[in-house]
Amino acid sequence: MSSLRYLALQEMASENKKVAHYGGKRITSMFASNVFTGRAMREYLSDEAYKSLMNSAKSGTKIDRKMADQIAAGMKAWAEERGVTHFTHWFQPLTGTTAEKHDSFFTIKSDGTAIEIFDGDALIQQEPDASSFPNGGIRATFEARGYTAWDPSSPAFIMEAANGKTLCIPTIFIAYNGESLDYKAPLLKSIAALDKAAVDVCHYFDKNVTKVTTTLGWEQEYFVIDETLANARPDLVMCGRTLVGHSPAKGQQLEDHYFGSIPDRVYEFMQDFEQESYKLGIPLRTRHNEVAPGQFECAPIFEECNIAVDHNSLLMDVMNKVAKRHKLKVLLHEKPFAGVNGSGKHNNWSLATDTGVNLLAPGKTPRTNLMFLTFFVNAIKAVHDHADLLRAAIASANNDHRLGANEAPPAIISVYVGKYLTEVLDEIETRVKDKFSEQDEVILKLDIHKQIPELLMDNTDRNRTSPFAFTGNKFEFRAVGSSANCGSPMTVLNTIMAQSLKNFKRDVDALIEKGEKKEVALMHVLRDYITNSKKIRFEGDNYSDAWAEEAKKRGLNNFKTTPEALDAFVTDAAKKVFFDNNIYSERELDARHEILLEDYVKKVQIEARILGYMATNHILPAAINYQNVLAENVRGLKDLGLGEGSYKAQLNILKVVSGHIQEINDNVEAMIEARKKANNVEDMHKRAAMYCNDVKTFFEKIRYHADKLELLVEDKLWPLPKYRELLYLR
Ligand code: ADP
Ligand code: MG
Repeated sequence: MSSLRYLALQEMASENKKVAHYGGKRITSMFASNVFTGRAMREYLSDEAYKSLMNSAKSGTKIDRKMADQIAAGMKAWAEERGVTHFTHWFQPLTGTTAEKHDSFFTIKSDGTAIEIFDGDALIQQEPDASSFPNGGIRATFEARGYTAWDPSSPAFIMEAANGKTLCIPTIFIAYNGESLDYKAPLLKSIAALDKAAVDVCHYFDKNVTKVTTTLGWEQEYFVIDETLANARPDLVMCGRTLVGHSPAKGQQLEDHYFGSIPDRVYEFMQDFEQESYKLGIPLRTRHNEVAPGQFECAPIFEECNIAVDHNSLLMDVMNKVAKRHKLKVLLHEKPFAGVNGSGKHNNWSLATDTGVNLLAPGKTPRTNLMFLTFFVNAIKAVHDHADLLRAAIASANNDHRLGANEAPPAIISVYVGKYLTEVLDEIETRVKDKFSEQDEVILKLDIHKQIPELLMDNTDRNRTSPFAFTGNKFEFRAVGSSANCGSPMTVLNTIMAQSLKNFKRDVDALIEKGEKKEVALMHVLRDYITNSKKIRFEGDNYSDAWAEEAKKRGLNNFKTTPEALDAFVTDAAKKVFFDNNIYSERELDARHEILLEDYVKKVQIEARILGYMATNHILPAAINYQNVLAENVRGLKDLGLGEGSYKAQLNILKVVSGHIQEINDNVEAMIEARKKANNVEDMHKRAAMYCNDVKTFFEKIRYHADKLELLVEDKLWPLPKYRELLYLR
């Protein structure tokens, strides 16, 4: 009988793959056609309802019930014309995926007649039966139910799946006492906090600014492999990554994949998911191969942070769905294959004023350049003050494989600013003396202004190894994992930036009150911030051992695993900065900490189970079969009376195979024991540490022997699709 792997390989070769292309359609003709955009609102809402919705979207104010009824009716009319039958509150719980529960517009009235309705109540608030979403005890102790509440700042959209169409209402997910249970509620709070703090600081330079928007442009990396092959591997099906598998003879050492031509089958898949994304208003712009074989990337034009976060979650969902049509599987996991690059999701982040200025883009005049420097230095100071929080925001069992291993970027958070800006900062540091005059200030400002424009144009001044790099007009947070919800890192980044700006204003105002001129006060505080945040700046190779040592000397933390990284969420400093900016209460933080630890435990637990299962049910039987072949062969040769020399090699291989079988068996047993011990520990923090330090250590050991066996056992007998098949066959 053929192994599952052989059957999968055969089926893959005979598959009838879906062809997709743009067929001459222009992107503008489909863009946002499934979104309740401002234009659709104009068409389907009364003037009054339209204005109230626009206003609420901009300012975050509540919409009253009566108006909500009108808006709901308009949305329904718009959706029904497009064939929609159901609606759902769409939200982003802490499980890391999106959640939806569909209800039909259809209902039965008291007199028994059928009707289709969607009213304001249904739009504004729903109660999903969500007691099984992670809540870290919040709902358990307070109120058994959580509810979803409409977020008018993100437009409603129509999700098409399997010929059905659903109206999706973006919502936040909260407990009855208002405590947040998702990624979005805190994100919105952090955006508001940063808006306020940034506008206040902008007023030193420009009184016309009334709103500052956070902008986010993510770059999504992913792997694409054949679905039939993936389905023959329990680890890919259950964990999204391979737990065993020997690296192929041809790895990424040739580096011929990067920016190479995109394979046809993947190209068709890309065109298909791009079109689905365009309909949803996701402004995808770039696509290309990534470094590893089978790895790709796409990126949109940046958007307001809240919308960008929604769009990334939607995109991941769309990619998974569309891949199925092509009999492909998308792997969004941070490290699907050992020995090949992992995947990240660079978060490009900046701030924009309602006067049209990017606050992290150097300006055209000395005055606007000082404004740029202010925001630039404050961002560095924010990362310096709360580097551990940023690390915690991107911690997950998956991302540990990148951050904790010898791969970009490292777990040590540092900021890269480039040669020119380093010079600018150094200059301010040395030239702004305590008796700094307005005259000095003007000269310095002019000098700096002369330097800045050229650095902007210099795209070569980049450091690809930095976890947090300035790239000319934005910061790029590169340590975010490919499967992560951007809401987590963005919430932290916005919050710590808001705090830094608040501190900055306090410090500048204090100097002004002492009689210092405004501009001089600004320069003084900037100088102090530059000095005080110096240790977070690093321009060298972030992978090097030398940096790990240097960072240690500087007192920067290097948390390689999730359980230790997450502790930063519950320090006094963290509680203070989140509380002061109205993002999380202490209880919410404790709950979140617990949820994330639990998520970690579950992920490692599932991997441990699957690895044990694969070892026992797939790998050992294959090895034993091969053992039999060898044993029979040796016995036969012996029976023929041929000397030992005729079966020496076979006997040797047999011994080696037996050795690996024994090792796998012993390690699997020991791993199960370690798991049992960990499961008996109530304290989630201790349990997570045990899974990290005691259970996970067996993964490498088991894998080592399994991979050796893969090289020894006859190809025909090996049951799991191999790396070369997963990564190179399309
Ligand atoms: P690369 O980093 O590969 O050179 P780009 O600089 O063109 O590419 O942009 C990468 C990502 O950064 C894109 O998603 C882009 O939309 C986003 N981006 C550009 N400007 C901003 C900004 N001001 N705020 C947030 N994201 C931005
Ligand atoms: Mg980039």
